[in-house]
Formats: sequence, C-alpha cells, structure tokens
Amino acid sequence: MSGQDTSGNPAGRPDWDRATAVPGLARPRLTFDLDVDVCVVGGGLAGLAVAREAARRDVSVAVLEAGSIGEQASGRNFGLVAPGYPVDVRELIERVGLADARALWTLAQEGVDRVRASAAQMPGLGLTQGWLQASTVDAGDEMIERLQVLGGDFGFEVEGWQVEQVRAVLRSERYFHAVHYPRAFSLHAHNYVLGLAADAAARGVHIFENTPVTAIDVAGIRKRVETPGARLRASHIVLAGNVHLGAASPRLAATLMPVWRAVGVTAPLGDKLAEALTYTGAVSDSADVDRYRIVSGNRLMWSSCQATFAIDPKSAARTIRKRIAAAFPQLGRPALEHVWCGVYGRTVHGMPQIGELRPGLWVASGFGRHGLNTTAIAGELVAAGMLDKDDRWRLFAPFELVWAGGTAGRVVGQAVIGWGRGRLVLAGALARYRERADRRGQEREQRLAAASRGARSDR
Ligand SMILES: Cc1cc2nc3c(=O)[nH]c(=O)nc-3n(C[C@H](O)[C@H](O)[C@H](O)COP(=O)(O)OP(=O)(O)OC[C@H]3O[C@@H](n4cnc5c(N)ncnc54)[C@H](O)[C@@H]3O)c2cc1C
Repeated sequence: MSGQDTSGNPAGRPDWDRATAVPGLARPRLTFDLDVDVCVVGGGLAGLAVAREAARRDVSVAVLEAGSIGEQASGRNFGLVAPGYPVDVRELIERVGLADARALWTLAQEGVDRVRASAAQMPGLGLTQGWLQASTVDAGDEMIERLQVLGGDFGFEVEGWQVEQVRAVLRSERYFHAVHYPRAFSLHAHNYVLGLAADAAARGVHIFENTPVTAIDVAGIRKRVETPGARLRASHIVLAGNVHLGAASPRLAATLMPVWRAVGVTAPLGDKLAEALTYTGAVSDSADVDRYRIVSGNRLMWSSCQATFAIDPKSAARTIRKRIAAAFPQLGRPALEHVWCGVYGRTVHGMPQIGELRPGLWVASGFGRHGLNTTAIAGELVAAGMLDKDDRWRLFAPFELVWAGGTAGRVVGQAVIGWGRGRLVLAGALARYRERADRRGQEREQRLAAASRGARSDR
C-alpha cells in the first residue's frame, strides 16, 4: 500500500483527495479586531453553507476556522449526497408524526437539490448518479414498507429492485433486495468544500484559517468572540465546529458522540472490476456498514470501519480489504493505495442540531454520516432564521441538545455498533444459508421430477 497516511494520526490528511484536489487558496489568520454581522465558528460544510447563505442576504460575515478549510469530516467524507437523515424514516414518523416527518424529508431532498445546483458551478467533482441501498439480509417485506413510506406517503422518486436485478449489477451473493434512489449522487467531497469556500469568499465572506475560537461571550446585543490573535464582535454567532468545538462551547461539544470512519481507494482494478460491479452510482448496505463506488475509472472507493474511538489507518486498511473480498470474492483482497479516517459527530437522537440556542446564538452541528445534504439545509434554515425571521428551523426543535454521555457514552456507543454489526452478520449468513438451502431444495425437486418422469416412461 503506497501513499497511506502512516503518521499515526488517525485524522491525517486524505492523500487521495490531495492527489485529485483542485488547488485551494490559503486563507489568512485573524490578526486584527473585527466587527461583523455574523460570525461562524468552523469552516466545514456546515459553517460554509451558513456563511454563504447569510452573505447572499447582504450582511457582513466572517468564518473562523481552527485549522484549514474542510480539513475535518467535510473534506474526508465518501461523497454520497442522498436524501434523508441518519435516523430511519419509520423511526422519524414515530417521533414526530407523519406530517412533520414528511416535511423533514422534503427538506432533506431540497438539501440534495441545493448541493447539485452548487456543484454544477464547481470544478473537479466527478459527479456520478444514483444510490443503491442493498439489503444483506433477505428482508423483502421491510423493503416494501420503506418503499410505501418514501414513494407512497412522501411522494419520493424511489425504486424497489428485486434480488435478480441487484445481482445483475452487483455480482455478489451478499445482496438481496435494494432500494434505488435515482436522484442521489456522489461527488469529490474535498473539492466540493473548497468550491463552497471559494463561492462564499466571492460573495464577500471573510474566511480566516488557523484561527481557533477559544471563548465566546453571548451576553448583550453585540457578542464577543476570542481568538489567540484578535477579538471579533458580531450580532449573531453560529457554532458549526462539530466534535472539535472544544473551549468555544464545551457544553455543546459534549452533546456529540465522535464516530470515526475509514475510507480507502484501491489501486486500478482493470477488467476484474467490471466483472464484479457494473453499477456506476454509490452502493451501501441497508445498515451502512459498507459504502462503495467506482472512482477514477476503475478503482473502488470503499468506506467502512465505524468506531467511537480513533481508528488506526493500518488496521482500517486490513479491514477494508477483507470486506471487499467478502462482498466480491472475484476481486480478491485488492491493494489500497490510499486510506484515511475522519470523525463525524452523532447526536443521541441521531438528528442534526439546527436552530437558535438563545437570542443571537445559533447551532448547525451533529450531522452524522448524512452531512452533505443536511448541512445544505442548515445553511438555508439558519441564515433565514437569523436574518429573515423565518422559523422553519423549528422543525428540528423536537430534537433537543442531549448530553452524549462522555467516555462512558462512547463505550456504550461502540458496544451498540459492535452488537448491531454482529446481529447483521448473523442475519446475513442465515439469509444466504436459507437461499442456498432453497436452491438445493429446488434442485432436489427437479431431480425427483425428472426421475419420476423417467420412471413413468420406463413403465
Ligand atoms: C469517513 C467519513 C465518511 C462520510 N461520508 C459521508 C457521505 O458519504 N455523505 C454524507 O452526506 N456525509 C458523510 N459523512 C459525514 C459528513 O462528512 C459530516 O456530517 C459533515 O462533514 C459535517 O460537517 P461539519 O461542518 O459539521 O463538520 P466538520 O467538517 O468537522 O467541520 C467543523 C470545522 O470546525 C472547525 N472548528 C471546530 N472547533 C473550532 C473552534 N473552536 N474554532 C474554530 N474552528 C473550529 C474544525 O476545525 C472543522 O474544520 C462522512 C464522514 C466521515 C468522517
């Protein structure tokens, strides 16, 4: 494996991104005191989306980023832009009722459409169309229920694929039925976040890198923001720092559970790849243990290994190779040329935190593994809430800030991930066993029928 991040820092820069990145601009550090209307803490997808939408409304905006733009989850992610939330749609209906769940899903699709519209103006994104969410357990009834909700109750464009249709494009016995989302798509995540920053800057947003926010004071009309080199005053502060927020708001940071995930890109796989996989969009299993797609013609980008404690890239590489081989034995254990890890923030209820915490203090955080579409929604809702007195953000009010449980919560979270995966592996193995047994049964029936036909003709 060449080009792997072996720095021991599980959050090292993704070098596949670097190898394929469009040139980004270095932004200055904040070294002078500044007065603005809106100060955004965090230069990831969420912070940049809010900043851009605010700047569209003709106010002065500054983004303060502790490191460099998109260097955390936003620049390291797998790049699938899909409707929905990390929470299953049926669970969402149970929590907020059908009408609000439908409204939230409509927003989620709006998020996808917003990203598509923005992406159309940006270079180097390599867009590919579609998302196939394939089941590793034979759960046709569950899929029908999901299709009824999404296609019937919500009026979404989704298709149910039968096992044969799935296996015609994913040549693997691992998969059964699938839900196909034709309007979902994938893009180069790092180039997208750089594109957002460029667009925000073009609209007049002041972006400062290497400028960690160390404290905020939200008393009074004009709020104060402290950084090591200078102070800033603003009418609105937006906290968009994800799990890294730290001293800027320890209480908010404590509501997120960090979840690490790894991504690997194989060496070119040649003709073998087309023998295993002909679907050109993104694929995931219904429990999202694995996500993968074809990139740069004939490489596989594969995301897997979820943990509430930092993942070592070397062991992540071993796991990813094993998982590729398990799904597509015809590919063997392909060499990975690039492996990186990133961390996203998960709330206890699984839904993003979007809205006003107190007058002038806003949050856009906790997007989990569904950050591309949901940060786009947050950008619009927070900017409209702050500047147009539009209260659509209140749709997210039922999902309050809940303490994520600190280290003990992470231990429990890890156990839940492990248990869920174990349960799925067992259910998958059982489903495949049943399928083989059915096939053997059918073959036996055919042999019996042939034998009795033979016996009759002998008589
Ligand atoms: C491996 C991986 C794969 C993923 N795949 C997908 C996918 O396919 N599709 C999808 O939709 N989502 C995916 N996600 C999730 C998605 O990347 C995140 O939900 C999204 O990037 C969150 O954006 P953010 O801006 O909230 O956080 P971040 O990207 O973490 O940005 C927060 C920024 O705030 C800065 N910051 C924090 N505190 C301070 C401070 N005090 N002062 C100044 N700056 C500060 C940080 O340095 C950071 O740059 C994936 C995530 C990972 C890790």
